Amino acid sequence: MIDLTFVPCGLPRATFAFAHAPAAPQARMRRREVVVNGRRVKTVDVHAHCAVPEAMAVMGLKVSPPALLMSPSADRLRAMDEQGIDVEALSINAYWYQADRDVARELIRIQNEKLAAACAANPERFVAFASVALQHPELAAEQLEEGVRRYGLRGAAIGGSVNGEELSDPKFHPFWAKAEQLGVLVFIHPQGTAELNATTRFKGNGLLDNIIGNPLETTIALSHLIFEGTLDQFPGLKICAAHAGGFLPSYAGRSDQGCLTFPDRCTRTLAKKPTEYIRQLYYDNIIFTPEGMRHLVAETGPGQVVMGTDYPYPWTTTSVDLILATPGLSDAERVAMLGGTAAKLLGIKT
Ligand SMILES: [Zn+2]
Repeated sequence: MIDLTFVPCGLPRATFAFAHAPAAPQARMRRREVVVNGRRVKTVDVHAHCAVPEAMAVMGLKVSPPALLMSPSADRLRAMDEQGIDVEALSINAYWYQADRDVARELIRIQNEKLAAACAANPERFVAFASVALQHPELAAEQLEEGVRRYGLRGAAIGGSVNGEELSDPKFHPFWAKAEQLGVLVFIHPQGTAELNATTRFKGNGLLDNIIGNPLETTIALSHLIFEGTLDQFPGLKICAAHAGGFLPSYAGRSDQGCLTFPDRCTRTLAKKPTEYIRQLYYDNIIFTPEGMRHLVAETGPGQVVMGTDYPYPWTTTSVDLILATPGLSDAERVAMLGGTAAKLLGIKT
């Protein structure tokens, strides 16, 4: 049985009176508390963006949209309260993969420090993934370790490719080795498909570079990690893919069938069937429909799906409801998706 309870969150916010205008009555803020079968669930959003202006300034960049900023955080907290999100796991999409080593070192140091400070300012509501300069893999491994041990960050957020190079390239092994050793979650968010954007394929109406390009990059990234043996070499890796893993879980069967149909195109022996790796990765639930969720869960397993919103980009405000509306789940599975699994992966107390 599922029920939702709405309870007030603390006291009404202070009102400010102006000399010649009466104070407007403030709406009482209400925080949605998600309850499954009588039990309050701590919900966790693993896909929430933010920005650190001091770090962007190192590369001469400015924050856009302003809603990415962590301070002031009132709008963000209001959105979380309305949607029933208790904790956001913050991440920053990589914009620094072209930076040289010295710039990347400085930028990431500032960024991880500020991320940690944003979490410390509101530890009940925010944790964060470290940012790392993956174009310098040894440095990225150091930055991940420092991010986790010194700044209390909970894993790393990386792009789905690095300047056109695949995450399965052996040059990135030092980073994967460190992530496995630390036992932390790596969140993969697409960078888009610059190669296709340079052609006419995604031009025209409908932002195809995003609606197809982003999930396509995630699909390519995960497929290489499977087929190049990266997941065999680092079997303890914990990876969460954005946007429900792109297209990979939607057409999983073809991944198994390719090497059976054209064996001469498959030169590497994997430890498992490709679809078995799909069942060890994690996925956010930015997939919009209960039927999409049902199929994602069928292909990946109920323990592999966590919640994501893509805040502040308004793709969805109903990630909680989508889990509650997905057919065929047990209460325990819904609790795991709403926050239990992410809390374990990210070291969040429940
Ligand atoms: Zn996103």
